[in-house]
Amino acid sequence: MKKTTHFGFKDVETSKKQSLVKGVFDSVAMKYDLMNDVLSFGTHRLWKEYTIKHSGVKSGDRVLDIAGGTGDLAVKFNKLGANVVLADINAEMLKVGRDNLIDKGITGIKVCLANAEKLPFKDASFDVVSIAFGLRNVTDKQIAIDEFYRVLKSGGTLLILEFSKTDNKLLEKLYNSYSFNIMPKMGKYIADDEESYQYLAESIRKHPDQETLKSMIIDASFQSCEYHNLTGGIVALHKAVK
Ligand code: SAM
Repeated sequence: MKKTTHFGFKDVETSKKQSLVKGVFDSVAMKYDLMNDVLSFGTHRLWKEYTIKHSGVKSGDRVLDIAGGTGDLAVKFNKLGANVVLADINAEMLKVGRDNLIDKGITGIKVCLANAEKLPFKDASFDVVSIAFGLRNVTDKQIAIDEFYRVLKSGGTLLILEFSKTDNKLLEKLYNSYSFNIMPKMGKYIADDEESYQYLAESIRKHPDQETLKSMIIDASFQSCEYHNLTGGIVALHKAVK
């Protein structure tokens, strides 16, 4: 029997998920930054700022931002003086990322096409690995977390910023209504793409909650694993040490 996994609320053959996710990000790449600001009312900037503040990154550190897309975190790490690799599986997202770097006059970030499940880097080559709003799109999350462990130096830090679960019932109700009724419609009117924003809402619900993700990180042999809920748990930052 063929193995299946989820793509949003749909069950799909595991071997097909990566190309379905590629279709989503090929489609949203050009309007990705605008839609991020609109749909989160700019709040994604605060979540990313929080991540940077808690990253402990110092000048000269080697940082991998995987699933880095259009480069928000990579630019912020670069400003701290880190040697940054901006990596993503999607060439369209990286193209927008490269243009953003050129527009900002940033030359020190290496851009690399890479799959989180099979990183093209040697063991123990980074001080920090970050992944923001990327892990839920990865087909086998445990394999990816194992890869993050492999490429981190001993004592290096893993940062996973991702949508998560709120236990505030009122917030959950409002957020569900916003996600399923308004977000796909905004996707349709602003980016002419309702389906990708429906996938966004569904993929968030299928992502492991805070404690489940924490146990996956511990299973990969990380230590000192902790998480910080942001915006009532709608987003969480997981942090762990190799
Ligand atoms: N990190 C950026 C941010 O926070 O704005 C982009 C996040 S975007 C929602 C998700 C990104 O994950 C996309 O650019 C997508 O191409 C990337 N992605 C999905 N699966 C991936 C994989 N297996 N390996 C690397 N990147 C992946």
